[in-house]
Order: sequence, then C-alpha cells, then structure tokens
Amino acid sequence: MEFQVGVIKGDGIGPEIVTEAQKVLDAIGKKYSHKFVYEDILMGGCSIDATGVPLTDHAIEQALSKQAVLMGSIGGNTATSPWYKLEPSLRPEAGLLKLRKALNLFANLRPAYLYEELKEACPLRDDIIGDGFDMMIMRELTGGLYFGERKTEEVDGVMTAVDTLSYNENEIRRIAKRGFDIAMKRRKKVTSVDKANVLDSSRLWRKIVEEVAKDYPEVTYEHMLVDNCAMQLVKDPKQFDVILTENMFGDILSDEASMVTGSIGMLSSASLNDTKFGLYEPSGGSAPDIAGKGIANPIATILSAAMMLRYSFDLDKEADAIENAVKSVLKENYRTIDIMPQEEDKRALVTQVGTKEMGDLIAARV
Ligand code: NAD
Repeated sequence: MEFQVGVIKGDGIGPEIVTEAQKVLDAIGKKYSHKFVYEDILMGGCSIDATGVPLTDHAIEQALSKQAVLMGSIGGNTATSPWYKLEPSLRPEAGLLKLRKALNLFANLRPAYLYEELKEACPLRDDIIGDGFDMMIMRELTGGLYFGERKTEEVDGVMTAVDTLSYNENEIRRIAKRGFDIAMKRRKKVTSVDKANVLDSSRLWRKIVEEVAKDYPEVTYEHMLVDNCAMQLVKDPKQFDVILTENMFGDILSDEASMVTGSIGMLSSASLNDTKFGLYEPSGGSAPDIAGKGIANPIATILSAAMMLRYSFDLDKEADAIENAVKSVLKENYRTIDIMPQEEDKRALVTQVGTKEMGDLIAARV
C-alpha cells in the first residue's frame, strides 16, 4: 500500500533524527511492500528564516492533505537564538500550537516503557521495577483549564486571578473512545484519572467514561483520583496499561511517567484527531546543544514512526517489527551517548554509536 506522509524536520537535531526514522520506514516499506511518499513541510525556526513566520497557511494545507505527519522538533537556544527576540506569536513554538489547533489534535499519547537494558536509568528501586513497565498516558489536549476563560482583575481592592476548567460531554466522549480503542490494541485495561471527589468536570468525566466503557466489554476499567495516581506511578507503575485523563492532570502525570523511564531520547509521542490522522514526534526538544554533532539519539523518533504505523495506518505487525528491532539493537549493547551507562566498568561492555549508525542498525534489524 501507499501512504502519504508529511515530514516536518524542524530545527536543531530535528533533521538528523527524522532522516533516521525515514530510513527505518523505508526498510519497513521494502520488507512489507509498502510505499511511504514523503513531502517536506516547513515549521519552526527554519520556517521563520524562509518565510518570516513559524507556520504558513500553505504548510497547514500540506499537513491537512496527508494521512499523517512525522515531526522532529522545533526551536533553538531560547537564550541566544534571534528567533526568541521576536514577539511570542512569531516564535518557533507558536507554529506547533497553531498546527495542533488547525488539525484538531485533541488526544495526546505518550508511552512510558522501560527497556530491560536501560533499567539502570530508572530512578525507582529494583523491587518496584520488577520485570519493567509498559504504559500509555492518554491526555486530552484541547480542553480543560488550559483553554478555558481566564482573567486577572482587582476585586474589592485585591488582585484576583481566575482560570476556568470546562469540559462538555462530547469532548470527554471522543477522548474516552480513543482511550478504549488504544487499550484494545494493548493489554485491555483503562485507568481513568480524575478528581471526582471535588470537581464537577471530573464527575461528568467519570459518568461519560462509564457510558463509553459499556461499548468495550473486553476492556477492564477503573477510576483513580489524580493524587493517588501520582503516588501509584512511583509506587507500582506495573499496574497501569492506558491512563486516560484530562489536559492538566495529563500534562503533569505524563512527565512523571516519562521520568521513571530514564532517557528523553527514547520517548515517542503521538497527537491524534477524530480521524485516523496523527502528528508523531519525539517527546524531547530540538537539543541545540548537540545539533549537528551526529550524536543525537534517533530512537524516540523511530518509535514515533512505529506509532504512526500502528495508529494512523493500522500496520500493527510492521510497528511491532520496528519496536522489536529497537529492542534487538539495545540487547546487542549499542548505545547513543545519552543512554550510555554511568559506571566505567559497564561502559566497557557497550558500543557507543552516533545518530546515523543507530538508524542503520535498527533499519538492518527490521
Ligand atoms: P531539549 O529536550 O531539546 O533538551 C534537553 C536535554 O536533553 C539537552 O541536554 C539535550 O541535548 C538532551 N536531548 C534531547 N533530545 C535528545 C536526543 N534525541 N538525544 C540525545 N539527547 C537529547 O529541551 P530544551 O533544551 O529545554 O529545549 C531546546 C529547544 O527545543 C527549545 O527551543 C524548546 O522550546 C524546544 N522544544 C521543542 C519541542 C517540540 O518541538 N515539540 C519540545 C520541547 C522543547
């Protein structure tokens, strides 16, 4: 089959890591007789340099015409880059916010998976880690506190700030369905996280999740209060499969979950709308400190490409092939600099490779 993929290489390490992900996709194409047709889309600092704005209408049209977009990362050194002397709406990140809005990307997925070989990078105790963990944080991305009405004003002589947390049942239903759909492709368990003992929006969230759950009899589900969830993530992360939650809780919990896996260079992510379309990108930024040195870890971007195959193209066995190839390369003790062991004696047991070599190794094992 043929698939149309928009490619935002972006800034900093973006072009280096996306090139490796395309290399791995092409290896998949060769093995399974698919064709990935790429079109470059300008966004971020490189778009500012070329067009004066971080995202043009033409770039949005390009993205809308594709089945999925694979992205590197955007932005530069926020202290020294001239892009950050521009007004906020013209800076690189404004392009990404505009694109997310234009594509109606309401569901954000961040897997937190602990590789056996990288256990050392996990700050949790061995008895807590056990055989490792594998969870998916599913965060609502376009509603809640971050998008509600806000104001700061003087009330009776006292400065007062108000933010509004609002969700309607449709917004909750569409993200809940996505969460249960994803659970069906995994271990079939959903933990819906809220603060229903206090918030009305959480009580509606809980009610709608229960309604949606009825359509997924194979999936077991539970409700958990957000404060308890924050605790359980470090006490017993193995218990989770899909964590389904609203925007602000998801923002905080997804960072907590990614921290317990150790390295930013390994963490993929996806943002989906209510079609099969998705934007796939590593969780990290453009790493200007290492850009151009050929040492960035491309694995997060390669795993994001695997998510694209699974969630936008329904190519599950091809996605498995990429994930297994990553596991093989780690098992064979190849590491980029960011995932090298800390201790001298353990460093002697592994082979340090650069961005391109890591891409070559994974593509070869596909
Ligand atoms: P960062 O994630 O770029 O870097 C933090 C640290 O992690 C750095 O030491 C970097 O070298 C390292 N790192 C990140 N990705 C790596 C990889 N693949 N391999 C090896 N090491 C890696 O965060 P930052 O320095 O705070 O931000 C740099 C720029 O990226 C800023 O302009 C920021 O706004 C932007 N940013 C963009 C996105 C995005 O495109 N979605 C996300 C976060 C930050």
